[in-house]
Amino acid sequence: MSAALKRVLVTGGAGFLGSHLCERLVERGHDVICLDNFFTSQKSNVAHLLGRPNFELVRHDITQPIFLEVDEIYNLACPAAPGHYQYNPIKTMKTSVLGVIHVLGMAKRCRAKVLQASTSEIYGDPEVHPQPETYRGAVNTLGPRACYDEGKRAAETLVMDYHRMNGVNVRIVRIFNTYGPRMHPFDGRVISNFIRQALGGEDLTIFGDGSQTRSFCYRDDLVEGMLRMMAAPDDFPGPVNLGNPGEFTIKELAELVIELTGSRSRIVYHPRPADDPERRKPDIALARARLGWEPKVPLREGLRRTIEWFRSIDMAHYRPPTPNY
Ligand code: NAD
Ligand code: UDP
Repeated sequence: MSAALKRVLVTGGAGFLGSHLCERLVERGHDVICLDNFFTSQKSNVAHLLGRPNFELVRHDITQPIFLEVDEIYNLACPAAPGHYQYNPIKTMKTSVLGVIHVLGMAKRCRAKVLQASTSEIYGDPEVHPQPETYRGAVNTLGPRACYDEGKRAAETLVMDYHRMNGVNVRIVRIFNTYGPRMHPFDGRVISNFIRQALGGEDLTIFGDGSQTRSFCYRDDLVEGMLRMMAAPDDFPGPVNLGNPGEFTIKELAELVIELTGSRSRIVYHPRPADDPERRKPDIALARARLGWEPKVPLREGLRRTIEWFRSIDMAHYRPPTPNY
């Protein structure tokens, strides 16, 4: 293997973002190990990679130790949709905390570089808008989202402690809402719900009055940002925000999905879930300056591609992983 080709572990590699990341790494010629317990994904996401000599699939739960020899680790294993991470909140916290401890221990032993997939959720329901990396966040430690938010916050802490104490080479990316082909159609996230509902002729379910906002990043842009962060100079552990700064209300999103699908679905309003953040928009000045990165795919185009993918799949092949969708 040439010096530029690496042994790369992607935990959560069969998931929505992980499977696309594995694809990109395999295309570059790296020796890729995809580790997953398939809680929120299925083998079909990586089936097209299975015959490749530089791709390996390991069924493993990251809350348990594992010994592998690798040069780089992307730590993505964690349920990401609210309905998934709230299904078993204690397991979610264990996945973030025990998972990152196992990953960092492996990195220390192998002298591997680690990229931690953190989240905009560490900002909670933010009082600062847009959110820069310096903002410390407003998370309700007691609420139903805390298992995810606090698990990811603790993981960031562990990443920086292993860095300072053991010299582990680390990077943290804070990912804002990302969408695209291979989202789980029953994950309950707003884009998958709206597209599935619009294509099925069902009502689109807005939680609250739809004035809350989110900023949606297309999958390919996001994965490009992760690859750049892994390749960034070692003196830049981050954290760095990765997301699309275009901000939309949930009502605008529903109307756009109806327009792009040509659906005759109507919009209906349901109660807002507890602790649902009011506004969210990344400040990406740091990613622009340090990684030369910014998203390229506008929401309309990304939604078009995502709708096309949803039309192409047989939803009967997707098992809702939890009753919470
Ligand atoms: P996803 O649910 O599709 O992927 C997560 C993957 O991790 C799945 O394949 C799942 O089976 C696996 N997994 C879960 N628990 C595990 C365990 N204990 N052991 C091994 N594997 C396990 O979600 P995604 O959107 O691809 O998210 C990937 C990562 O990015 C997550 O860490 C998530 O927190 C982070 N993130 C995603 C977004 C987004 O909008 N998609 C936003 C912020 C952060
Ligand atoms: N949402 C909605 N209808 C749905 C699913 C979600 O109105 O069918 C809202 C949800 O209340 C939130 C926003 O859309 O305000 C984004 O929700 P999602 O679960 O996709 O992500 P997160 O809240 O984690 O950003």
